[in-house]
Amino acid sequence: MTENEIASLKSLLDSPKSIVIIPHINPDGDAIGSTLGLWHFLNLKNHNATVIAPNDFPDFLKWMPGQDQILIHQRNIEKANDLIENGELIFTLDFNSLKRIGDMGEVVESANGIKVLIDHHQQPEDYAKYQYSNVNMSSTCEMVYNFIDFLGETNFINADIATCLYTGIMTDTGSFRFRSTTNKTHNIISKLIENGADNTEIHNKVYDTRSVNRLKLLGVAINNLVYLKDLNTAYITLSQDELDQNNFKKGDTEGFVNYGLSIKGVKLAVIFIEKREENITKISFRSKGKFSVNEFSGKHFNGGGHTNAAGGKSDLSLQETVEKFISILQKYSTDLS
Ligand code: 5GP
Ligand code: MN
Repeated sequence: MTENEIASLKSLLDSPKSIVIIPHINPDGDAIGSTLGLWHFLNLKNHNATVIAPNDFPDFLKWMPGQDQILIHQRNIEKANDLIENGELIFTLDFNSLKRIGDMGEVVESANGIKVLIDHHQQPEDYAKYQYSNVNMSSTCEMVYNFIDFLGETNFINADIATCLYTGIMTDTGSFRFRSTTNKTHNIISKLIENGADNTEIHNKVYDTRSVNRLKLLGVAINNLVYLKDLNTAYITLSQDELDQNNFKKGDTEGFVNYGLSIKGVKLAVIFIEKREENITKISFRSKGKFSVNEFSGKHFNGGGHTNAAGGKSDLSLQETVEKFISILQKYSTDLS
C-alpha cells in the first residue's frame, strides 16, 4: 500500500461510511480476529460496519468480543447481500480470491463499494481498488494492526481490538513458533498486551475449552497416522464414520495435521478428511522448509494457501484420494529427501 493510497483511504474514512468486512469461508482464528478487530476499530471511528462471514465458525472462537454481531451469510442471505450491495467500502480479509467466500463471491464482485484487500496469502486476485498484500506477514491480524498504524491511529486500540488481533496472531503462528513470526510480530503482541489483551486467558479460551469428544477424535487420528519414512512424510485420515462416532463439531480437527510434523525428519504432513455431505475429501497440508504445499496443493488438489500451510480438496473418495496422493508423491522424493 503506497503513501498515496493510505492518504486517500484515510480521507475516505474521515467521514462515517457504511462498511462490510468479510472473512473467508470456514473462518479460522485469524479470519475472525482480523475482521472483528477491524470492526471494533471502524465502529469506534463512527462508521456503520458489519462483519459478514460466508458460513459459521468454530465454538472455540465464540467468546471473542463482538462475535455475536457477526452476520452469517448462509443464514441471512437477503440481508447480507443487501449490506454488501449497498456498502460504501468492502474490506476482504485473510483471503486472496473471491472463490474463497463461496456464493458471496459473485455478490462482492458486482458490488459498487470500494474494495480493500488485506491478506497474507500468495498470488492475490486483482479485484480490490486498495490492496495490502504481504505474504511474509504472520497473519492478517498483524496486518490489521499495521493498517491502523498506517492511519496513525493505534491510540484507538482498546482491549476488544487488542484481544481480537492477539487471538488471530496466536492461532496463525502456532502460538508464535512458525517461521513467519518476527520481532515485529512480537513488538505488536507486546502492544496488544499493553492495551488489554489478556494473553493467558486467550490461550485458555482457544485451546483449553474443547470437548472430550474432540480429544478422543485426536486419538483416532493419531492411531490412523501413516509414516512414509523414505519420503519424510506423515499423513492422517479421518472417515465420516470416525467423525460421527466422536460427535464431530466444526473446528474439532483444526491442528491435528501438525502432529505429523512433530516426527523427527518429517517435512510434509497431511490430513485427509472425508466430508460425505459435500461429497469431497478435504485436505490440509503442512510442511517444513522449502517444500511448497501451496504449489503442491494448487497443482494436484484444487487448493492453495502458503508455502508451509495450505488446504485443498478432492472429488475422489477418501481411499482414492490417499492413493492419488501417494502415487503423486513419488515424483517429489528428491524435494522431500
Ligand atoms: P487449513 O489447512 O488450515 O484449512 O488451511 C491452511 C491455509 O490454506 C490457510 O491459510 C487457508 O486459508 C488456506 N486454504 C485452505 N483451504 C484452501 C483452499 O481450498 N484453497 C485455497 N486457495 N486456500 C486454502
Ligand atoms: Mn491467516
